[in-house]
Amino acid sequence: MVKDEKLMHKTAVDLLHERGVYEEDIAELVIFLQKKYIVDLSLDECLKHVESVLKKREVQNAILTGIQLDILAEKNQLMSPLQDIVTEDEGLFGIDEILALSIVNVYGSIGFTNYGYIDKVKPGILERLNSHEGNEVHTFLDDIVGAIAASAASRLAHDNPSKSEITK
Ligand code: MG
Repeated sequence: MVKDEKLMHKTAVDLLHERGVYEEDIAELVIFLQKKYIVDLSLDECLKHVESVLKKREVQNAILTGIQLDILAEKNQLMSPLQDIVTEDEGLFGIDEILALSIVNVYGSIGFTNYGYIDKVKPGILERLNSHEGNEVHTFLDDIVGAIAASAASRLAHDNPSKSEITK
């Protein structure tokens, strides 16, 4: 079982790397979300929380599922009309956001606020994932990355209740 857990974690993290997303990119998003509330917030501190989020089974499940669908869309292997919907990242689709919510769900209400905000502003790596350049499809990945960052920011806030938004 432990071996299986390690394998799930490694597979999910490797997949993120293959798609050009590194833990540091997500930690930068956490800084973006929390720097107003926590003085002297370091990248290392954020990285710790990102790594903890990535150890959750729910998060790994969402990563595996979402990236799989992105890859199948890139290979033109989805059924019609899903193929076009995912490739074109159609605004009314919404399942990408719903899948990502399964990540945020684990971390309570502050995670939802952060997720909504980061999805709107799209800072850092989210801007690149949303650029729709070349043949790459990141319809699911952008929401997953935003949700991991929002969840890590939520963990961080719970660790620093006096300094963060959570006291509001
Ligand atoms: Mg999306």
